[in-house]
Amino acid sequence: MKLEVSPSGRAACRGCKNPVAKGDLRFAESYVLPGSDQPGHRYWHLECAAKKLAGPLQEALAAYEGEVPNRAALDALIAAAPKKAKDRPLPHADLAPTGRAKCMHCQEPLAKGELRIGVERELEVGMSVTKSAGYLHPGCAFAWTEEHLDEDVETAAWLERVFSNSDLSDADREELTNALTPG
Ligand SMILES: [Zn+2]
Ligand SMILES: [Zn+2]
Repeated sequence: MKLEVSPSGRAACRGCKNPVAKGDLRFAESYVLPGSDQPGHRYWHLECAAKKLAGPLQEALAAYEGEVPNRAALDALIAAAPKKAKDRPLPHADLAPTGRAKCMHCQEPLAKGELRIGVERELEVGMSVTKSAGYLHPGCAFAWTEEHLDEDVETAAWLERVFSNSDLSDADREELTNALTPG
């Protein structure tokens, strides 16, 4: 994850899908495509990254030695970004804030501070069905996706949704990518 000056105007921003202009500062998000060992980058306008990837952008800003023209506006966007994972759409991954929840797959507790994946589940309450978050160990997530994802949804695409709804470090992304890559 780093800031860099865009060498061309060709790359589209992952957030708004518009190109990042040549010469503008951009946020380079590193990721590994599930199922391959090829690391890649995808690019964001700083303003767009501030809304979706506030944590990693903040780290990249701290490490960047050059001038960041709209720094005050970026800091304001970062401060306004949802901090709590529960405010983010599902599925998403975060670090368990307590040790109380149990994994939906193995029924074992999810340890406090450990990486977990939150997915939408339906709960029957009397006559009605409500939706709430259920949680999974990374190591249980692949088995869960095999059972629960619609057949036309690929695990890799599903993991992409988890990433785009989460604010994870490179190490946590790698852990999830490995856990969801069979074999
Ligand atoms: Zn953008
Ligand atoms: Zn489990």
